[in-house]
Amino acid sequence: APARAASEGRAMNATEAADDIAITHPERVVFPEDGIRKQDIADYYRAMARWLLPEIAGRPLSIVRCPQGAGRPCFFQKHHGAGMRHVDSVRLREESGEQEDYLVVRDEAALMELVQFNALEFHPWGAKADAPELADRLVFDLDPGPDVPWKEVVAAARTVRARLAELHLESWLRTSGGKGLHVVVPLRPACPWEQAKAFAHGFADALAASEPLKFLATASKRLRKGRIFVDYLRNGRGATSVASFSLRARPGAPVAMPLRWEELGRLKSAAQFTLRNAPARMRRLRAHPWEGIDKVKQDLSWLDARS
Ligand code: ATP
Ligand code: MN
Ligand code: MN
Repeated sequence: APARAASEGRAMNATEAADDIAITHPERVVFPEDGIRKQDIADYYRAMARWLLPEIAGRPLSIVRCPQGAGRPCFFQKHHGAGMRHVDSVRLREESGEQEDYLVVRDEAALMELVQFNALEFHPWGAKADAPELADRLVFDLDPGPDVPWKEVVAAARTVRARLAELHLESWLRTSGGKGLHVVVPLRPACPWEQAKAFAHGFADALAASEPLKFLATASKRLRKGRIFVDYLRNGRGATSVASFSLRARPGAPVAMPLRWEELGRLKSAAQFTLRNAPARMRRLRAHPWEGIDKVKQDLSWLDARS
């Protein structure tokens, strides 16, 4: 795909280039209740770049920009914009049939350029920019109704993991930084979106059918009361999920944090990790909590054999 050259003719490497991205209005308050300013956001993303970049690099990316801070209206942006010198792009077909340039971050300079443009959240596709029609990650986004106790959200994630394991699919866990948990399934080799979507939908339907008091597979907020929506809709072409290590534009500056399954029992909420404590956690850990995820070979080809 014809991608725009991000930093033509530069002798600097991307980290040096990131040093050069000027953060304007560093004193601007982003999280008013937490006293967190734009410079704190930039410091967070500089410190976490080595963890965040592998999650987003080379994927079509949506960002949530909050020019007036997290407490004010923010907006989703998926298209490349004027003035972006380090951010790459990939030309993709829209649902409407039009071609558009989607954002692609490839290095730290591009990440910091988006931070300078007041990006707070990063939401990649489950596909690479050079293979946009093939899903390489599925996300089961567990969305609890407002009155669901945390213990049940934890149990639900374990149930999803066990059901996937019955299908010989290994899965990984993260907090959303909001109210729920995400269970992530890598696919290697990657598979067409149509198949990924059909599988995810079928999986959610089967779960809701077998435990109807706990799960539902329809997006209706009204029906969600007391139950957990198994949001399979993240698994279509063009859909996104929040990246591990992304901040969220919600009170407390929470972070979407990947976990080892063994950590789930001790987890208190989906917003437990924040801008304040996430960098220290990652410094303390010797290995990525999802170590091995990119080595696993599993796919959905067995579905063909059944149908
Ligand atoms: P929570 O745990 O609170 O549900 P979440 O990140 O899972 O947090 P959802 O509302 O369930 O939030 O949304 C799931 C994903 O859908 C988001 O992470 C995001 O990538 C995508 N999404 C949500 N809103 C939009 C939007 N307006 N435009 C595009 N994508 C969106
Ligand atoms: Mn969710
Ligand atoms: Mn959802």
